[in-house]
Amino acid sequence: MMHNGSFWFDSLGPDDVGLVPESMPSQVDVAIIGGGYTGLWSAYYLSEHRPDLKIAILEAEVFGFGASGRNGGWCMGTSHDVEALLSRASTHATGLRLAQAMQATVDEIARVADQEQIDCDLTKGGSLTVATNRFQVGQLQASLKHLHHIGFSSSDYRWLDASESRARVGTANNFGALFTPHCAAIHPARLARGLAYRLQARGVHCLESTRVSRYTSGLVETNQGAIRADTILRATEGFTPSIEGLKRAVLPIYSMMVATEPLPASVWDEIGLAQRETFGDSRRVVIYGQRTADDRIAFGGRGGYYFGSKIKPVIPGNDPGFEMIAQTLRDLFPVLMDYEVTHRWGGPLGVNRHWRPTVTFDPKTGIGSAGGYVGEGVAASNLAARILVDLVLDQDSEILSLPWVDDHAKNWEVEPVRFLGARLLQHAAERADACEAELGRPAPVWGGLFDRFVD
Ligand SMILES: Cc1cc2nc3c(=O)[nH]c(=O)nc-3n(C[C@H](O)[C@H](O)[C@H](O)COP(=O)(O)OP(=O)(O)OC[C@H]3O[C@@H](n4cnc5c(N)ncnc54)[C@H](O)[C@@H]3O)c2cc1C
Repeated sequence: MMHNGSFWFDSLGPDDVGLVPESMPSQVDVAIIGGGYTGLWSAYYLSEHRPDLKIAILEAEVFGFGASGRNGGWCMGTSHDVEALLSRASTHATGLRLAQAMQATVDEIARVADQEQIDCDLTKGGSLTVATNRFQVGQLQASLKHLHHIGFSSSDYRWLDASESRARVGTANNFGALFTPHCAAIHPARLARGLAYRLQARGVHCLESTRVSRYTSGLVETNQGAIRADTILRATEGFTPSIEGLKRAVLPIYSMMVATEPLPASVWDEIGLAQRETFGDSRRVVIYGQRTADDRIAFGGRGGYYFGSKIKPVIPGNDPGFEMIAQTLRDLFPVLMDYEVTHRWGGPLGVNRHWRPTVTFDPKTGIGSAGGYVGEGVAASNLAARILVDLVLDQDSEILSLPWVDDHAKNWEVEPVRFLGARLLQHAAERADACEAELGRPAPVWGGLFDRFVD
């Protein structure tokens, strides 16, 4: 099987013996491009509502090869745009609906995993944003105040003082934490692959090694030949620039991860995470971690952007970025100095020009798409797929009033502007984090520049 380099692909269940190879039908009702969560969930709900539809998922590599099979496994009950929507009076009501829909989505994923008996190690232990320096205490407490001000309650977000926080997670520096229960830790690849197996068993055509080069209304062209389809849904998120005509549609930003060897009970006594809470801190160069079901730490951070939106399907294990991530992990938990990092991987996630997820469908052409979750797509892709399915089937539903619907984004700038812009933002984030940690006060120039673009 084509390997995406991740620990997750190395630890697929023993029943993951490979999908049954299929030949491509010449005509279907719905062709879905991309076999990650967005494509898989779209096929799942389409086939739930309309078992009579002939559906094919066209995946260039293997199911779960992309971000869905290599992410941090944070199944978050929020999305990148929620806070911005809630912060403006004109969009507050919409923001609340989106926040509630995202919280419910974590339970929806747990429901389906349970119903379909997909063993993806899902544990809803919540999430900790730890203050790992004194500056972050003020930052996180202000953030909590803001979250309560814009409509969340203390059952959504609450402050843990230093001793409560340390009892949850033993980072070297821990001055308190912001806790939310709306997050589950999952084994991401088992969820993606499990869905693919269930869909194939239902009669959805699950086609691997089928790379789409281009598509127009009614017709998809692939390396295996052409396929006619009334409806064509693109679900390629960070990989989108590799399709003809879509080079500037989505910015592929890379995120990189490492995983440790399984850690003994004595180490876990020190680190904690007894509920498998996901954890990070409030730095702008995001970090994220989880305790895996087999007692490793899987931990990641932002990688960057390659000139010309270049797609690197697999990141070589000797990329220097991995050592920086491993070092950040050891800084958080010095006890890990004595333990090996066994896995290193990364991959692209997708960012739309307006930094918000979108779900689009044009009934005239029969073409739709969903994606652009800005690194928060594990749960958001499920909600996006349900919206996409309601649009395709022309079903009236509450989620169609959410702000992602037909919220088209402009193309990204031409090079070298894209590259310089991405580099500048990365530099701004690094400088702001460093200044704030060292000086203990806000970095208005670099922080302001970064926040203005990203938020
Ligand atoms: C390292 C990393 C860590 C992350 N951590 C988290 C996290 O902890 N929590 C969170 O919420 N989000 C996280 N994300 C983001 C999240 O994983 C993604 O937003 C989400 O998985 C996107 O799903 P998708 O199905 O839209 O895209 P993908 O999963 O990327 O699927 C796209 C698929 O399309 C296929 N494809 C590409 N080109 C073609 C083509 N031409 N023809 C056919 N098929 C094609 C690819 O092979 C791929 O399988 C992370 C992302 C990365 C990379």
